[in-house]
Amino acid sequence: METLFNLSMQFCLISACVFFIIFMYTSYIFYTENEKKATFRALLIGLLLPIPYIIAWHYSYNVFALVLFADIVLTALLFLYPFKTSKTICDDIPLNKIDERNVMFSRNELVVDSDVYKAYYEKYPEKKALDDAFRNEAGLCNEKSLFNHTFAFAAAHASFFAVGQFKKAVDGQINPNQKEISSEKMSAFLKPWAKKLGALDVNYCELKDYHWYSHKGRGDEYGSEVNNTHSHAIAFTVEMTEEMVQAAPQSSIVMESAQQYLDSGRIAIQIAEFLRHLGYSARAHIDGNYQVVCPLVARDSGLGEIGRMGLLMTPKQGPRVRLGVVTTDFPLKTKDRKKLNYMLDFCLHCKKCATVCPSKSISSDEPKLVEGVKRWQINSESCFTYWCKAGTDCGRCMAVCPYSHPDNLLHNAIRLGIKHSPLFRKIAAPLDDFFYGRKPKSKKLPEWMR
Ligand code: SF4
Ligand code: SF4
Repeated sequence: METLFNLSMQFCLISACVFFIIFMYTSYIFYTENEKKATFRALLIGLLLPIPYIIAWHYSYNVFALVLFADIVLTALLFLYPFKTSKTICDDIPLNKIDERNVMFSRNELVVDSDVYKAYYEKYPEKKALDDAFRNEAGLCNEKSLFNHTFAFAAAHASFFAVGQFKKAVDGQINPNQKEISSEKMSAFLKPWAKKLGALDVNYCELKDYHWYSHKGRGDEYGSEVNNTHSHAIAFTVEMTEEMVQAAPQSSIVMESAQQYLDSGRIAIQIAEFLRHLGYSARAHIDGNYQVVCPLVARDSGLGEIGRMGLLMTPKQGPRVRLGVVTTDFPLKTKDRKKLNYMLDFCLHCKKCATVCPSKSISSDEPKLVEGVKRWQINSESCFTYWCKAGTDCGRCMAVCPYSHPDNLLHNAIRLGIKHSPLFRKIAAPLDDFFYGRKPKSKKLPEWMR
């Protein structure tokens, strides 16, 4: 018994030191994030939490030390226990191909009273009133919008203009002298090179029917059937910087989105041209000129899951990314996708995006059957109408998602806890609320933009 008491005593001293260090570090991280309330709270916990352990150790309260010891061991065991998680929180495979003409960006490009416009609303009369709502607002990057910022809107325009110049380069001549390359060699080169070009994460998948849009909805090819026969895709993410996202829905978000559409577009164009130069058919899928549904391709490549807010959530940067895709006939080496069910399970508990969404477009409910597929679906009409009012692509949901926090030891430890412990998933969201607030205010625009 004496040995156990001695062990508990030592344990108390070590625990006090560990708690102190952890919460001092936590408070430092919050300080660097300019989160005053969170800094203070972490500091307070770091000072108060070790007190009972120090008392037990200092005054040699054997029984008290043993209780604290047992408490920590039991708590640790509880968090390590593999409670069951449902395997089918969301279904993966859409039953039908998506028609790009129904996507909000395509509907926004319809010229009022044009033949295409009339034909579209003749086919979908129920969408007319919904779309009139966003047409009655100022519009994206409009000076009459809520978050007008002359420079930021001009910068976003410049990035969209630049990516527009790429549109004709998505496809091109294929070198008739095809090089013999093994899929292993190609894969080994492509990933690091894409990262060198600026991609954050890169992976491949085999293309299925549902990855392709049924019809094009934007640009000159509006209404044409998508008949691409490429067998494989390279999907990658590019990171949206924290300081630009945190001020969402203010103007920095649209500036950053446009910049990352440009960056991902440029990388996709380079990769596609590289493959064609080696003698393989390849096409870049970039802003305004897609044939594939990028989030589905990225998810099936294993880059993340499509969460409550309808965006691809990656394990490290959450939804704070933009996507790029290249399709090709080169038989890339693919692996079976590991479903990241723990991310969807966390979404079940978290609901933070639904709480903060200014247009109430995100559901707080469990996933529902949408056209025979169990999933979350946001109200894209009310979301887009808010964009047109704000003048930006809002991104408030992206900014507050606990997965969007920076890539550092503290947040990575939380992500690890979410990944491995179903119990931790239940408390991680309230913890995030405790430090950051349930409805955190937007951060200020970066200094140089004010
Ligand atoms: S905010 Fe929460 S519920 Fe929403 S996508 Fe992120 S993790 Fe899921
Ligand atoms: S972008 Fe804004 S309006 Fe749209 S779902 Fe996210 S929070 Fe809501």
